[in-house]
Amino acid sequence: MELFDTHCHLNHLDFDSDREEARQRAREAGVTRLLCIGFDLASSRSAIQLSIWEEMQAAIGIHPESAEEWTLEAAATLRQLYNTGKAAAYGEIGLDFHWDSVPRARQSEVFQEQIAFAATLSPTLPLIIHTRDALAETLAVLEASATKAPIVMHCFTGDVQEAAACLDAGCYLGIGGVATFKKSEDVRAAIAYAPLERLLLETDCPYLAPQYKRGRRNEPSYLPAIAEIVATAKGLTVQEIAEATTETARGIFGF
Ligand SMILES: [Zn+2]
Repeated sequence: MELFDTHCHLNHLDFDSDREEARQRAREAGVTRLLCIGFDLASSRSAIQLSIWEEMQAAIGIHPESAEEWTLEAAATLRQLYNTGKAAAYGEIGLDFHWDSVPRARQSEVFQEQIAFAATLSPTLPLIIHTRDALAETLAVLEASATKAPIVMHCFTGDVQEAAACLDAGCYLGIGGVATFKKSEDVRAAIAYAPLERLLLETDCPYLAPQYKRGRRNEPSYLPAIAEIVATAKGLTVQEIAEATTETARGIFGF
């Protein structure tokens, strides 16, 4: 079985003491592909550095909660990082109206500017989208951008209606630990509803560990628990889910 963790933050300082061990445990759990996601300049740089691992690729970009970091200088740095040839995606970018740590209007400007910037790196560079309490606004920005890039709605935790809105907009849905929580019946219904070829698996580690590890630090080796919950929701085997989601992810990220 080969699983692809399409959203991990092994670049996070939470892994500074055991990054190599976490890598080893991932391999032993069948998680053979990793996409390491940047959320600000420093983490984008460390995601690129970690891409020295043969199973790792990077995404670079500035998360809405760090939107104040987005400047012309930041764009120049991100372009240099992209030019290393190690970035398979741009993100995570988007809108976070839950924490509101940056004014919404500014988040929206930075989101629009980063979509346009990513297109100057490559018009088909996949976009990794973070959206929280802002789905309609996020989809409106994406639609107005007329992007030609594949779009991943990372950490999808919505219901069938929200899944339909994302799928209509052409997005892939990144399924993570929240889908395993006891109260997440809506998310599991959305997984059952969505076409399998539009689903991706992710841990979002160190955040959002699946139910059996809830409250602890998450890591890529817990990804099989996500595959299992998707398999149950779809009435398919874990092997079938692994094959389908890994193939989809490889198609998007060019592994
Ligand atoms: Zn993330």
